[in-house]
Amino acid sequence: MLNHSILIGRILGIPIRVHILLLILLPVLATLYSSNFMFGLLLVIGVFTSVALHELGHSWVAMRKGCHVQEIVLTPIGGVARMSHIPSKPMDEFLIAIGGPLVSLALGILGVFSISELFFVLGAINLMLFGFNLLPCFPMDGGRVLRAYLAHRKGRLQATRIAAEVGKYFCILFIIFGVMRLNFFLAFIGFYIYRAGQMEYRMVLMENQTNRFSGHREGHIEVEISPPPYAESERGLGTLKKKLRNLFRR
Ligand code: ZN
Repeated sequence: MLNHSILIGRILGIPIRVHILLLILLPVLATLYSSNFMFGLLLVIGVFTSVALHELGHSWVAMRKGCHVQEIVLTPIGGVARMSHIPSKPMDEFLIAIGGPLVSLALGILGVFSISELFFVLGAINLMLFGFNLLPCFPMDGGRVLRAYLAHRKGRLQATRIAAEVGKYFCILFIIFGVMRLNFFLAFIGFYIYRAGQMEYRMVLMENQTNRFSGHREGHIEVEISPPPYAESERGLGTLKKKLRNLFRR
């Protein structure tokens, strides 16, 4: 899925790529976000810039922990940072997992206090990104935080098994909710994350069985996903905007 992407630049030495499908879907997403096409387009570009910054948040912490970040790819269902040599100490994993959401939170706070309509909406979406990614849905950020917490008490394998199990129920909810509300992005995200969680559990299981796990995952490439919680509709986004306005601008 990550092939077919175009290099748009490098930040912190990390190549940032955009998947061709995202470029094709850009106009569709723009109309999904707003009835004003230009506003919608700027919004979608802003959302994916935010997703890239979120991934850079993870990547920056990861690199400080000795991890190699190969690239960041922006796809229609979110950002993917491909990493290798990932430290497995629960504390390091927690810090890498929290790095992305903290960037989203900071962007969200900056945005909702901005006087520009575009940045205000982007701020609201970043706050959604922050909340959505912190759901304990492994291998999303919140799920990684949960695994890091559990790994302290139960060991890595058990922690991954429980986190993947909890994540499975969230994914089922995403799929049911997505299909019911005709939000197929959410349904697909549910399916994709479920598969990613199961794959990662199997990987940890294999590491455990071969017993060659040495604290760092040599050669393994791990994928960090941060799907943007697509607004179900312009109406959904409108409701959120209204709530935030009431909260910040009485
Ligand atoms: Zn993330």
